[in-house]
Amino acid sequence: MEREDCVFCQILSKRKTSKIEYEDEDLAVFWDINPQAPTHLLIVPKKHIDKLSDFSKSDDYLMCKLFKVAIDVAKRLKLDEKGFRLVLNEGRDSGQSIFHVHLHLLSGRRLMWPPG
Ligand code: 5GP
Ligand code: ZN
Repeated sequence: MEREDCVFCQILSKRKTSKIEYEDEDLAVFWDINPQAPTHLLIVPKKHIDKLSDFSKSDDYLMCKLFKVAIDVAKRLKLDEKGFRLVLNEGRDSGQSIFHVHLHLLSGRRLMWPPG
């Protein structure tokens, strides 16, 4: 399940340090090392799945929970007052650089649209 060479697996197993905002048996939320907004969190399932299109039918609960936890954390940090953005990159052209699926939660400044 865990991949030795995966940075996010290393963070989830505490072999690599990160600032963890929330954690339960299924996923963790930690602060991005290179933030693109005043608040930039990553919502990451503990199960190693390379990318969004690799979720299987048995992962429906986990896929739903990624969004549910993102919303819960956003509300707890009061990000819902001014707004926030959820981003999930898939594949080379999207800019995905870590192939362990993760949802970005960005907030704290006016975000541009369309994205670059
Ligand atoms: P992607 O480009 O794959 O959608 O997003 C990967 C994100 O992971 C980037 O925003 C990058 O800054 C972040 N990241 C990469 N390595 C680390 C790390 O070691 N620790 C943390 N906290 N974030 C990381
Ligand atoms: Zn991994």
